[in-house]
Amino acid sequence: MSGPRPVKAPTGSKLTCANWQIEAPYRMLQNNLDPAVAERPDDLVVYGGTGRAARSWDAYDAMLRTMTALKPDETMLVQSGKPVGVFRTHEWAPRVLLANSNLVGDWATWDEFRRLEDLGLTMYGQMTAGSWIYIGTQGILQGTYECFAEIARRKFGNTLAGTITLTGGLGGMGGAQPLAITMNDGVALCVDVDAWRVNRRVETRYLDVVATSLGDAVAQCLAAKKERRRLSVGLVANAADVFPKLLAMGFPADIVTDQTSAHDPLSYVPNDVSEEAAKNLLATNPAEYIRRSRLAMAEQCAAMVGFMDAGAEVFDYGNSLRREAQLSGYDRAFDYPGFLPAYIRPQFCEGRGPFRWVALSGDPADIAATDAAALEEFPDDEGLAKWIHLAKERVAFQGLPARICWLGYGERHRLGLRFNEMVKKGQLKAPIVIGRDHLDSGSVASPYRETESMIDGSDAIADWPLLNALVNTASGATWVSIHHGGGVGIGRSIHAGMVAVADGTDLAAEKLARVLVTDPGMGVIRHADAGYDRAIEVADQRGVRLPMREAQA
Ligand code: NAD
Repeated sequence: MSGPRPVKAPTGSKLTCANWQIEAPYRMLQNNLDPAVAERPDDLVVYGGTGRAARSWDAYDAMLRTMTALKPDETMLVQSGKPVGVFRTHEWAPRVLLANSNLVGDWATWDEFRRLEDLGLTMYGQMTAGSWIYIGTQGILQGTYECFAEIARRKFGNTLAGTITLTGGLGGMGGAQPLAITMNDGVALCVDVDAWRVNRRVETRYLDVVATSLGDAVAQCLAAKKERRRLSVGLVANAADVFPKLLAMGFPADIVTDQTSAHDPLSYVPNDVSEEAAKNLLATNPAEYIRRSRLAMAEQCAAMVGFMDAGAEVFDYGNSLRREAQLSGYDRAFDYPGFLPAYIRPQFCEGRGPFRWVALSGDPADIAATDAAALEEFPDDEGLAKWIHLAKERVAFQGLPARICWLGYGERHRLGLRFNEMVKKGQLKAPIVIGRDHLDSGSVASPYRETESMIDGSDAIADWPLLNALVNTASGATWVSIHHGGGVGIGRSIHAGMVAVADGTDLAAEKLARVLVTDPGMGVIRHADAGYDRAIEVADQRGVRLPMREAQA
């Protein structure tokens, strides 16, 4: 069967594939394309502009067929969303190895990428789209929640109550912003040009209300700020128009950021053409579309700098708005920092990052049981407890039930082994898939985001994510991927994905005990190597070996 169709991952404890190590990627590929999970499933687009799970429907069918027949000691190779080979490896090896969107340096441009994509030779894998561990907006919710909680701690007395955050973009990832802000008790004004996206966030309970006009949005936000009441307001409009208007009217934004699809000038919507004309331009004259889109980004970016000058906390939220604005000639684009160096890096020094898991049974009770296990395993972690309680109360599952929380080096393998025990003892109805975002402590090189402003200047060194993929492959991950261009766009990042399956077997326990150590361990050694004191301290305290320090001792 070829062509678009509604996709749903199988659930329950009955296997279609030879074992759970194969069944897991088989189900997770389908889960990524579940209409409840994916942004544009008919086009195989999961999130992030054009981040795909498979290159074509034929390739999708071939991957499922191949996994159905895969043996426990075989490995399927996937090149940018298309299965290209099956080899006999061994039981410890990953069952699937993926490489997405990778291009040689001089050719790593959007133009060349699109030429190859048009020829059907590659696809854009984003991060967890092409590596089959996207879990809907909840995936980004925890990271966004952590980020706003950190801003609250540093700048606003530990709460966002009585503050307004202005932001753009309510897509697959950006849609987490309103809920993350209200979970921190703040007010959010979220601008997105696409009414469908805005309404979808209300349906999934991430956004409270949709304003009828700019005036209505401002009035609602001001009233909520005054009463220190949490509220998220969506506004259907172009951010390049609205941000400057709000600045000009003296809108009292305390925090300003953006998560429109600014990583790709062909996804960002210009503000000086009608929707119809924009579509037409996209099809007939992409170069002109890009020019207009960059000009619009410069307008939005300049307004953000204006808010910064007026005293607001302003940061880039991991797209490429600053770079695209700079490309159109705006010279103050990099006056405000990226969120990574501003708020997250100290956590990366501890190997802390987005640990996520999915119940292959499809039964929410399995996630409830794992939530309880996580709380029991880390009884002193107040942040974790607050997050899990909020998530249980306010997060609607999309597709297979899943959970995410931030854990560091020394913690991830403990929870992974605990889940494996639970499966073994029959306390869960089926195995648990454990993975993470590529936005993690030791799995990405991205000079506009995760590795922006490293203290040793090593921002663009991409050996680290490659070593991450290699060591996770050697340690027993179930699937491993190497990607280029996710998050911030082609030519701007290289990153690796890792997924492991707790299937209750002794072999899985052996693998988890290694891979959930090596993976966050990469974050510790990467930051220790760069010279971060905290990472060196963590390495010393928790026994992460740093050969160059051993040589000095
Ligand atoms: P998406 O494509 O699902 O959504 C983008 C949204 O931007 C769409 O709803 C679109 O309508 C809107 N948009 C485009 N142009 C606009 C404009 N001019 N004005 C208002 N709205 C506009 O993308 P996504 O998955 O939500 O990701 C958004 C961006 O965030 C991407 O660039 C992605 O790479 C980046 N990202 C950041 C992080 C992070 O942790 N900070 C994580 C993942 C993704």
